[in-house]
Order: sequence, then C-alpha cells, then structure tokens
Amino acid sequence: MTTPRTNLFGFDREELRGFFAQLGEKPYRADQVMKWVYHRHVTDFAQMSDVGKALREKLQAVAEIVPPSVLFEKQSADGTHKWLLGMDGANAIETVFIPETSRGTLCVSSQVGCGLNCQFCSTATQGFNRNLSTAEIIGQVWVAARHLGNVPHHQRKLTNVVMMGMGEPLLNFDNVVRAMSIMRDDLGFGLANKRVTLSTAGLVPMIDRLSETSDVSLAVSLHAPDDALRTSIVPLNKKYPIAELLAACQRYAAKRPRTTITFEYTMLKGINDQPEHARQLVKLMRKVPSKVNLIPFNPFAGTRFERSDEPVIRAFQKILLDAGVLTMVRRTRGDDIDAACGQLKGQVVDRTRRQAEFRRTLERGVADAA
Ligand code: SF4
Repeated sequence: MTTPRTNLFGFDREELRGFFAQLGEKPYRADQVMKWVYHRHVTDFAQMSDVGKALREKLQAVAEIVPPSVLFEKQSADGTHKWLLGMDGANAIETVFIPETSRGTLCVSSQVGCGLNCQFCSTATQGFNRNLSTAEIIGQVWVAARHLGNVPHHQRKLTNVVMMGMGEPLLNFDNVVRAMSIMRDDLGFGLANKRVTLSTAGLVPMIDRLSETSDVSLAVSLHAPDDALRTSIVPLNKKYPIAELLAACQRYAAKRPRTTITFEYTMLKGINDQPEHARQLVKLMRKVPSKVNLIPFNPFAGTRFERSDEPVIRAFQKILLDAGVLTMVRRTRGDDIDAACGQLKGQVVDRTRRQAEFRRTLERGVADAA
C-alpha cells in the first residue's frame, strides 16, 4: 500500500519548515515553496525553478499541493463572485468574494454546515457534517486569489478575509487559527492582522483562547439586545448570555488598544428592529469599544423572517449614531446568486437530521397555506 502524500496547504510556515527538516532540508527551502504556492499560485513542484531538482523529486514523492476543487462558480451582477468548492466526495462549501472600490473581501467557511442553528441563517437549515481542515480553509483563499490574479505586496486584489461563511470558526479552533496565520504571513497572503476578521456567535471560552493565541479582528453575531430575544434567534445565547459575551469582548479588547469589536445585527422585521431595541443596544455598546453593522435580512426559502423596511433600518441606525455608536448599514451584495450574508448553503451531508426537520417544517407551512 502506498503512503498518502502530505498536502502542504495544511502547514503554516513553522510546520512547513519542520516538514522540510524531516526531509533533511534547510528552512529557507520551505520558504521558497511557500512563495511559489501563495505568491505565484504554483502547485506543481516541477515548476519551482529555484528549488533544486533533487528536492523537487523528493517532494514529488512525499508531498502534494491540492486546493479544493471548483464544482461551480458564479458572478453576481454587482461583481460578487461565489464558488462552490468540493471538500470530499460528498460535501461542498461556499466561498464568496465581494469587491468594493477600495478593497476586496473574501468570506471564508470554516465548517461543512453548522450546528449552532441560528434561526435566521440558511446554513443552519443544512445541518452539520464536519470541521474543515486547515488545507480546506486556506485552499478557499488560494482558489480566490488565483482567480483574481492576486499577488501579495504587489497586485493586491484580495485585501480582507472574514471568517464569516459557513460554520462557527471557534468550534474549529486549531485549523482556523493555523489558516489565519498563513493569511497573515508575508510568505502567505501577507494580510495585516486587522484585515483578517473572525466572526463568532459567542463561544465565550474560545474568545478568551483566541485572545491568547491570535491577533485578528473580532466580530460578534449579536442580533438582539436582550437575552430572551437573543436566545430565541441565537440558541447559543442560552449557554453564554449577553453579559458573559460582552465581558469576554471586554477582555479581548483590553489586550488590544485601539481595537474595536464589530457587532453584527441582522435586521428582522418586527422582531428586533424597534426603537426600544436600538436604545437597549446603545447601552450594551457603551461597555465595549465597538461598532455595529446592521445587516438587512436576506430571505431564503422557508424562512419565517422578513427583512426590516428601509426607513425602519435607517431610524434604528439614527438612534445608535445619535448616541455616538459607530453604525453602518451593510449593503446587500450578491443576493441574485444567493451569496449574500446568511444565504450560504453548499452541499452538506447532514449528520444532525436538521435538514429533514427543516423540510418537514416547510411542508407543514405549505400545507397550512393551502
Ligand atoms: S449564523 Fe453562523 S453560527 Fe449561526 S448557524 Fe449560521 S453559520 Fe452557524
């Protein structure tokens, strides 16, 4: 039986140097290979012309550089680009690039599906299968960078990464942290710390762990200003209520002067969009250096929620702004290709039976409406 070759996408710089040391090679050889992979998008050892022939042959025997396979890709009228990437024979995840005038942001997935069951999220209806490996996470960035012709430090098209796609990144801690290290490494994608953002639904102990190990920007999916409402739409809140979550955010911010934490707030018509909610949110935001992103809800088939009306969103924003809370309304991007926030689905072999439950709910809804 032949030994499987090691996918080098799975290593950060230190680990790659360790791998090369085991082959009897100097650390700078690992650095050369990283540059070929991340700066020139070369995955064939034979093309790495400044790497000696003997080493290239050695690498060919024991290693490989394999990105996720592109099963499908589509571009929105507004330039947003979505990839469906095959992660194994059965599962696929989605990755989305959002171009803007001054930056290009890639929204990266961390899990196949998600187990947290936030009620306004399309990914949640798919159930959960497994965590993505480091290679599968950084591979998403690599596929997008190659498509864009991104060259770190020279021709930078991809300026920001948000771990905000499918999955809860803090439930896949080690692989996500390792992948974010490659994103920020000069020999990787060379992104500044503040340009890599991890978004969490609020896993308090893991926020503390993140603050010990990594120096990225933090975003928190808040979506409601009181515990009863938040628990009804983000069930994780039952375990880690708002006060504990904000305390963890305070600890995270305390270690990073000049840092602000972004709080995501999906605007759900008649649910969390009233002036009283905005006033409660102001009180919470006074506790942490923060900014708020208001996200107009992006509907998907079978959801019980609707998007708040534009004047309601603007009135909500005004209450926050008048109270001195920096608040943006996120422009909806890519909704014509189901690539907008909260709409990512992929293809998930569900191990939670949530898809079946969701289908039954949908069928009941259709029957009730008939
Ligand atoms: S919003 Fe994020 S954490 Fe919540 S179910 Fe969706 S993917 Fe999971």
